[in-house]
Formats: sequence, structure tokens, C-alpha cells
Amino acid sequence: MEMNAVNRLIRMGTELGCTVLENEPMARRTTFRIGGPARLLLEVHTTEALAKLYGTCKTEGIPCFVLGNGSNLLVDDEGYDGVVLHLSEGFTSIVREDDDLIAGAGAKLTALAHFARNNGLSGLEFSFGIPGSVGGAAYMNAGAYGGEMKDVMVSCEVVTAQGEIRTLTAAEMDLSYRHSALMKNESIVTSIRVHLQPDDKEAITARMNDFMGRRKDKQPLEYPSAGSTFKRPVGYFAGALIQQCGLKGYSVGGAQVSAKHAGFVINRDNATAKDVRDLIAHVQKTVKEETGVTLECEVLRLGAGGWEK
Ligand SMILES: Cc1cc2nc3c(=O)[nH]c(=O)nc-3n(C[C@H](O)[C@H](O)[C@H](O)COP(=O)(O)OP(=O)(O)OC[C@H]3O[C@@H](n4cnc5c(N)ncnc54)[C@H](O)[C@@H]3O)c2cc1C
Repeated sequence: MEMNAVNRLIRMGTELGCTVLENEPMARRTTFRIGGPARLLLEVHTTEALAKLYGTCKTEGIPCFVLGNGSNLLVDDEGYDGVVLHLSEGFTSIVREDDDLIAGAGAKLTALAHFARNNGLSGLEFSFGIPGSVGGAAYMNAGAYGGEMKDVMVSCEVVTAQGEIRTLTAAEMDLSYRHSALMKNESIVTSIRVHLQPDDKEAITARMNDFMGRRKDKQPLEYPSAGSTFKRPVGYFAGALIQQCGLKGYSVGGAQVSAKHAGFVINRDNATAKDVRDLIAHVQKTVKEETGVTLECEVLRLGAGGWEK
């Protein structure tokens, strides 16, 4: 980033009430615990500030990335030479309107699932234990155990790449397996509205506990990771294919294909982003050669010069 742009963004962010951090280590901000510094990280508290900052970055061609809870993200060791926008306290409210919940994009998905249960509303049990933010979950159409955000989504409030505030309907969000329209239109979610069904609190709790129990049994939650490394290939399970190729436990540097669940690459011992990338490439190559199946990464990569989808 040019010094002029850095200084302008620092001034603008401060005037708009943001917390401005320079050279913020992204290893602190991702569940992988990997990644070099972001040139600027702005903790944004209002939609108006977000619209101004995002609009400015987009019109002036300043590299800009919106960070949720960093739970599906591999940031390069060199860091990111751009502006990271993080939706902070001003975006964490959750309110009920009849059988709908309206949740700020910065709220944790697990907090939303708890809120729904406490209000006797069913439909978000699947999301309990997904360590993302509401905004990141909308972007990824996060899902588990037969449920996904698509099932409950009514609409999203967004800031567009032009810095305008708009509401997108569920149809406009175009949600499908780990896909949303946001991946193309680059809008930032500020809040979502979901529609749920009244149900018995104890029944909801039982389902949430069942899903959490299955996560604890099957997933290597004791190590930093970004969850499932690969998308589910049609007709297969990524973990089973990787295991079949003898790669369970395979390591590159500090990164390892989890010995507990081969679908997870874990940061076993101070892994670098390069370790993880090299390991992913080896797994993809081996699985392709031995089974003919292409494994597509689910984890997103934020690199020094930008980000790759
Ligand atoms: C242990 C573990 C288990 C997991 N289990 C699951 C699972 O069962 N199912 C599942 O689907 N995922 C799972 N994940 C992956 C991850 O939690 C989800 O993909 C989650 O939705 C990512 O949300 P986030 O806030 O962390 O997003 P981030 O990782 O911060 O960002 C992911 C993408 O979302 C974008 N984004 C974030 N916030 C916004 C916003 N407000 N507006 C627009 N774009 C935004 C980012 O720019 C980025 O492109 C797991 C991860 C871990 C570590």
C-alpha cells in the first residue's frame, strides 16, 4: 500500500470512530493461528463508517478484505498489504421479531444458535459449534449435519462495493453448497434475518448437544485448523479419499493431515502458511493421481498481494 493511502485510511478510520491497528499479526485473528501482518486493520463499529471506508477503498483501488472470525482462512506468511475491515461490537446485536431473528454480522454463529434455543426457536441447531461469525456464515453458506444457512435465511443487509446500504433477499443471495452471491458482488453483510420454527427448548438443546458431541468425537478440535480443508466432492467424502491414499497423519513442516479426521489439515506444531499450502498441494495431487477425484479447497487464502477465491 502506498504511504499516502495508509495515512488517509488511518485518518479516515480514526474520524469514523474505528480502532486502527497497523501491522496487525493475522495469526492472532485466524483459527489456524497462522499468518503475517495486515498493513492496516480497522475495527469498524457502524454501518455508516463501513460504507464510507469500503466505498473509498473500492473507488480508489486500495486492496481491502473483510474479516469475520478467521475460521475459514489461511493468511500467507508475508501477511496482507491492504486494509482489513473487521465488524466489531456495533455489529453483534441479536433481536427477535416474531419467529425471525435479526443478527449482526459480527455476532458469533454459536451465540445466535444459543439465542434461538433460549427463545424456543428451532432451525439453527446445525450451526452450533461452527466457529464463524454470522457474516462469514452467510458468505460461505455454512452448513453441517444436513442443515445450512440457506434453510433459514430470509434476507441480508449489505454494504455494496459502491458503498451503498441495501437489502438482499434470500433469492438474491443465491446460496448453494459453500457458495453465495457475495463471492461475486463483493458486498459486505452487516446483518441477516433468519426465520425459525417454535419448538421445545429441551428438544432443541438435545439436538445441539448431539451435534457438538459428534464434533468432539470426530474432529481434531484440540489443534488449530480452519475446519474441513476441502469441499465435499460430488459422490465422495474428502476425508475418506485422503485416508484411502494413505495420507492420514502425513506432515509437511508443522502442518499435518489430522490423524483423527483426514479431512482436516491442522497446525500441529508452529506451521507456516507455506507448510499448509505445500501439504494441501501434495494431498490434491496424490488424490487426483490415485482416485481421479479433484479436491477443491474450502479454506480461503489471503495472500500478500490480494486474495484468492
Ligand atoms: C473447528 C472448525 C469446524 C468447522 N466446522 C464447519 C462446519 O461444520 N461447517 C461449515 O460450513 N464450516 C465449518 N468451519 C469453517 C468456518 O467456521 C465457516 O466457513 C464459517 O462460516 C467462516 O466464518 P468466519 O466468520 O470465520 O469467516 P472468515 O474465515 O473470517 O472469512 C471467510 C470468508 O467470509 C468473508 N466474510 C466474513 N465476514 C463477512 C461479512 N460480514 N460480509 C461478507 N463477507 C464476509 C471473508 O471475506 C472471507 O472471504 C469450521 C471451522 C473450524 C475451525
